[in-house]
Amino acid sequence: MPSVSIFTPAPQFSNDVADIVRVFLGKIALFINEEGGEIVIRHQEETTPDGMLCRVSLNDQYTREELRIPESSELLEKRYRKRQLKLLVYDCLKEMTGFAPPWGALTGIRPSRLVYTAMESGLSLDAACQQVQNTFDVQNEKMQLLHDLIQVQSQYPQPTEKDVDLYVGIPFCVSRCAYCSFLSEEVGKGKQLEPYTEALEQELAQSLQLIDELGLRPRAFYMGGGTPTSLPAPLLARVLKACKPFMDRVSEVTVEAGRPDTIDREKLDIILQSGATRISINPQTGHDITL
Ligand code: SF4
Repeated sequence: MPSVSIFTPAPQFSNDVADIVRVFLGKIALFINEEGGEIVIRHQEETTPDGMLCRVSLNDQYTREELRIPESSELLEKRYRKRQLKLLVYDCLKEMTGFAPPWGALTGIRPSRLVYTAMESGLSLDAACQQVQNTFDVQNEKMQLLHDLIQVQSQYPQPTEKDVDLYVGIPFCVSRCAYCSFLSEEVGKGKQLEPYTEALEQELAQSLQLIDELGLRPRAFYMGGGTPTSLPAPLLARVLKACKPFMDRVSEVTVEAGRPDTIDREKLDIILQSGATRISINPQTGHDITL
């Protein structure tokens, strides 16, 4: 397994940078602001009269730098600062390896979200796709797929202001896939499972109260993760019981059961009896190269 040291004034983005590195190198051992990596990424930032200058070097051999005008809101500043860093690292890695990933610099889920955001600023679907493709170096075939997907999605009724969906996240899994970009701790010794379940029960009760107070209309329920079925059966039953009042009011109830090694008959029975109308086995892709 390759080891990578990242020296950065923004260690909070290290895992995002590591996601990009994994696109090229697969599983890595990561050192943050620590020697030890055979591959060394150095990140520097400098405030200049014209904006923020971001510099990245890889093994002191491949370098990129770019000037950026800081954003006015804290949220946008964080987003674009992180994005710039990831893209510069991506460029260096692409040059070093000669590999052009099909999805370019995109990691994580729902790339369509980026296209929708671009469309919200007034761009047509075609123009928004072009913008995303140029920014993230996505290959034509994947961009076409994204374009077609959004066209299909746009045929479905859009939610009204009063519609609400409930997503319940179970941030645990039994191990960590190299490509995983979800919030997902390994179940490990399980110390966090019980307190998390308790907190979820409270939050679900409060969410239901809020929905009623605001006169919202629940539409769909989805339990994802992580991997919900990594919970031991009694805890899975408890969480689903807490979700029941919500599930009874929606037309679509989905529980993710995406890892065969976490599913057994007992858990499937619990899911069925909870009122779920479907399970999602959520394969992310059938292509090893993409994984
Ligand atoms: S199974 Fe899913 S949630 Fe679990 S580590 Fe893999 S990608 Fe992440």
